[in-house]
Amino acid sequence: MKVDQVSKRLQAMAVSETLAMAQKSRELKSQGFDIIDLSLGEPDFNTPDHIKKAGIDAITQNFTHYPPVPGYLDLRQAIAVKMKRDSNLDFTPDQIVVSNGAKQSISNVLLSVVDPGDEVVIPAPYWVSYPEMVKMAEGTSVIVSAGIEVNFKINAEQLEAAITPKTRAFLFSSPSNPTGEIYTREELASLVSVFEKHPQILIISDEIYEYINYDGQHESIAQFESVRDRVAIINGVSKGYAMTGWRIGYLAGPLWLAKACQKLQGQYTSGASTIAQKASIAGLLGDQSVIGVMVSEFKNRRDLVVKRLAAIPGIRTNNPPGAFYVLPDVTAYFGKTDGKSVISNETDLVMFLLNEGHVALVSGAAFGAPGCIRISYAISQEIINQSIDRIEKALSLLK
Ligand code: PMP
Ligand code: GLU
Repeated sequence: MKVDQVSKRLQAMAVSETLAMAQKSRELKSQGFDIIDLSLGEPDFNTPDHIKKAGIDAITQNFTHYPPVPGYLDLRQAIAVKMKRDSNLDFTPDQIVVSNGAKQSISNVLLSVVDPGDEVVIPAPYWVSYPEMVKMAEGTSVIVSAGIEVNFKINAEQLEAAITPKTRAFLFSSPSNPTGEIYTREELASLVSVFEKHPQILIISDEIYEYINYDGQHESIAQFESVRDRVAIINGVSKGYAMTGWRIGYLAGPLWLAKACQKLQGQYTSGASTIAQKASIAGLLGDQSVIGVMVSEFKNRRDLVVKRLAAIPGIRTNNPPGAFYVLPDVTAYFGKTDGKSVISNETDLVMFLLNEGHVALVSGAAFGAPGCIRISYAISQEIINQSIDRIEKALSLLK
């Protein structure tokens, strides 16, 4: 063994493609290239002032010591209030664990329940980090795919077919990153009817895009009484309150799971930033109209992106009702060339669009969505127009 040899566990893990693309576009920008970055999914809005002020007050008031491992009690109470207000779900503060972003909350849950060889069923397209987090827990991802023709949503038969005696958990996001699709109440009910037959499965419901829903009310799978006691809700303040850099996410779930996550977190982070926790309370309990302002702008941007993409020959897209992503199918461009290189797959196309069009996107391969590319439209309409002009021009070079 050599000193610079990293563990097999880490060797097996892929680098986050979303973060890698964002890094690549930062590097190109620093070299003087005029890159439009639509790779990273984060609101372009700044954190609202009343939330920032609560963070500043937290420093002034000396909330600068170690917090309780699962988070300050007043923050966990605020989350319980939010759960009741938005989803009519009852949680006590001891069922809630606050972490360094929803990303850590998901990892905490997986590390708490998955043993080597356990299976985690994940619908594809999935968020890039899910299978890698399962690998970290030494589990096996079982991928169930759904294409654009069914709006990227799996059905009950597919779910049933994927379940084995080794299935330990089901992990999904709705509204979804990367598809922007949302499971309706009826669709969730049909998945629930399958889970009712398999009581050993923990349902991990990533609801981080809850507020970014253009057509309706958020539906949580935890609202179904028959599975209520084995749903781990993952949420956070990153997307709804434009607080990605504050790094606050949380788990709300059964008490045994919250205790497990607390034990784990106690050994490897001691909890999340005190200042960010206090600011998050102001977000969760303060003026909620800040969300509506952002969401109505996201909706205008969704309409613009979908309209502009529909006018490009060979691009097929859904009309996503939430989140801030579209995942167009670009297979019509496979086999084409600009005379220099041939586009064989979605990753080639993303690199072509970066090099020729100077627009950074993410390959669908990272999300279990072959044939697709992901566009994050959390950016101004002016920049959306510029970027689609560039994409259109670059694609027109492919014959
Ligand atoms: N889940 C999904 C589906 C996401 O898109 C993100 C955003 N990166 C996260 C979880 C993690 O969010 P956070 O910033 O709270 O870690
Ligand atoms: N959720 C965002 C994305 O998918 C942020 C990047 C990340 O955390 O991976 O682009």
